Amino acid sequence: MSLLVVGSLALDTIETPFGRAIKTLGGSATYISVSASYFIQPVRLVGVVGGDFPKEDIEFLKDKDIDLEGLQIIEDGKTFHWHGKYSFDLNNRDSIVTDLNVFADFDPIVPDSFKRSSYVCLGNISPELQKKVLLQIEKPKFVVADTMNFWIQNKNDELIDMLQLVDALIINDSEARELSHEANLIRAAKKIQGFGPKTLIIKKGEHGALLFTDNELFMAPAYPLESIYDPTGAGDSFAGGFIGHLAKTEDLSYENMKRAVIYGSSIASFTVEKFSLERIKDLTPIEIKGRFNEFKRFSEFTSI
Ligand code: AMP
Repeated sequence: MSLLVVGSLALDTIETPFGRAIKTLGGSATYISVSASYFIQPVRLVGVVGGDFPKEDIEFLKDKDIDLEGLQIIEDGKTFHWHGKYSFDLNNRDSIVTDLNVFADFDPIVPDSFKRSSYVCLGNISPELQKKVLLQIEKPKFVVADTMNFWIQNKNDELIDMLQLVDALIINDSEARELSHEANLIRAAKKIQGFGPKTLIIKKGEHGALLFTDNELFMAPAYPLESIYDPTGAGDSFAGGFIGHLAKTEDLSYENMKRAVIYGSSIASFTVEKFSLERIKDLTPIEIKGRFNEFKRFSEFTSI
């Protein structure tokens, strides 16, 4: 079993009603690989950073047993920078700045030692780059992709093209509506499955997530948290927990996908408790399993 992750490594500036973090560690690939590292090691990372990317962040990723052979460091370039600002209820955010920087000219090269990766997670970056990475991998067993409104609006054709190669897509409800041009989420799901991914996960923030497979639907709750400080990376952590569990168990059955959704939701619920990766940088297996069990307890009921 082997998992390859591609996506952004970023320096994020984040504003929430509870505070502000400036140029802190972020990026889709960062959240995905750290979250997945709690299930499978090493996680193979493909991405790019500039010379300004802190050395201690590189060390942190190495400590998580993330294999950085596929990480390009462009010494005279600047790391991708994203600045997001959240609304009072944390349900909406505006992207104030998206500076692609080193991503503008990124040519992802998958090292030979990564080419036989059975599980692949295409984190949020341009769909052309996602496809370019995927085409370098020999017959992956299961490919999960994430995307966001930025790419749905700016690279729609490329995104639809890339989706033909994907087994599972993870997006949020507003992105699903935008991508499908359907207001109703069930209709949206059917249309998106028609683009390629047989499995679709639609995240609904504080209202949980929906898992659609060929002919099944699973409704996962969200963890009822009293204090949410920074929702950044929740979606990526979800993706990391989801694919991490699938790669660890090597079981793509519907029942196991449901468990993977709950593991994804568990890691995401930790991520939002603190800024950046603060809360998920050293989780324990007991904490993760404990939260997984709470999800079960909160949502199970008997029929009589
Ligand atoms: P999430 O909150 O899970 O949607 O992911 C947040 C992360 O996505 C942040 O750490 C950002 O650095 C990263 N991000 C934001 N916009 C983009 C983009 N257009 N391409 C790639 N990564 C992005």
